Amino acid sequence: MAATVISGKLLSQELRQALAAPIARLAVQGVRPGLTVILVGEDPASVSYVTGKEKDAREIGLNSETIRLPVSTSEEELLALITRLNADPAVHGLLVQLPLPPHIRSARVILAIDPAKDVDGFHPVSVGQLVLGGPGFLPCTPHGVLKMLQKTGVSLTGAEVVIVGRSNIVGKPLALLLMQAPYHCTVTVCHTKTKNLKAHTLAADIVIAAAGHPHTVTAEMIRPGAIVIDVGVNRVPDASKASGFALVGDTDYAGIAEKASFVTPVPGGVGPMTRAMLVENTVRAACLSTGIAFEE
Ligand code: NAP
Repeated sequence: MAATVISGKLLSQELRQALAAPIARLAVQGVRPGLTVILVGEDPASVSYVTGKEKDAREIGLNSETIRLPVSTSEEELLALITRLNADPAVHGLLVQLPLPPHIRSARVILAIDPAKDVDGFHPVSVGQLVLGGPGFLPCTPHGVLKMLQKTGVSLTGAEVVIVGRSNIVGKPLALLLMQAPYHCTVTVCHTKTKNLKAHTLAADIVIAAAGHPHTVTAEMIRPGAIVIDVGVNRVPDASKASGFALVGDTDYAGIAEKASFVTPVPGGVGPMTRAMLVENTVRAACLSTGIAFEE
């Protein structure tokens, strides 16, 4: 039976619309949530991500600013800018688009961001809160995946989840979130040293692919009725596209869509969800900094 497609495009629209209420409450107090994105250099994928973030933020009425810096920017210059933006009350959410040029230490840059403005959820304080199950900004991609899993309506309690990928921004935080309340999943995290990936994925109720390589998860690797979430975004050459490339995920979508119960497309899946969670975090940050309720 064909799988149900969880459209990140549609779900992210719903989530953005739900932000109208807290944005209106902030407006009554004269507050407009502000998101500032710093982009160093001109990496094409980063430029595209930043453009999407800016568009989404503007569409729901956020004050969105992208500061574009040359690739020659020094680490000290970037840190000085972050210090200035940390102190700017109009900036509620602040993020630096990764990856950074090799001469800039990402860890030092992330550490410089005020955790109260860390809408990417990458600061060690945010990560620590996530591990402890405390308050703090959740990283946007894992948070978006959780929303997609909730959208299936399937009970996640006790579900066997296999995450393919153990990065700091996707695999690790997702594993930590899914094992905690309210999800209560049993989580296995796989990586390139995993001995038999297929044995793990075949036993899973939910497979989450975040490996960064096309075809990492094929139809033969999942059991019938599994939920498959594809986080991957890979550019593959495609002469039929004006850009010369197409975006594909980490799974063999067509085959999996015939076998799974739920699937997510690429593009139009996790990507728009990531951006929706970023604008949600920015509205949350504005609410927290002004003492206005995010939820009523
Ligand atoms: P990453 O830092 O490169 O990590 C990839 C992980 O996958 C690593 O842990 C690696 O294992 C593992 N891996 C790679 N090939 C594997 C294989 N054949 N079998 C098992 N494990 C394998 O990537 P990332 O930043 O997490 O991103 C993953 C993908 O998601 C990328 O395509 C990225 O573009 C995409 N992404 C999408 C969004 C979105 O909003 N849609 C956001 C973030 C990332 P080792 O640790 O052993 O090397």
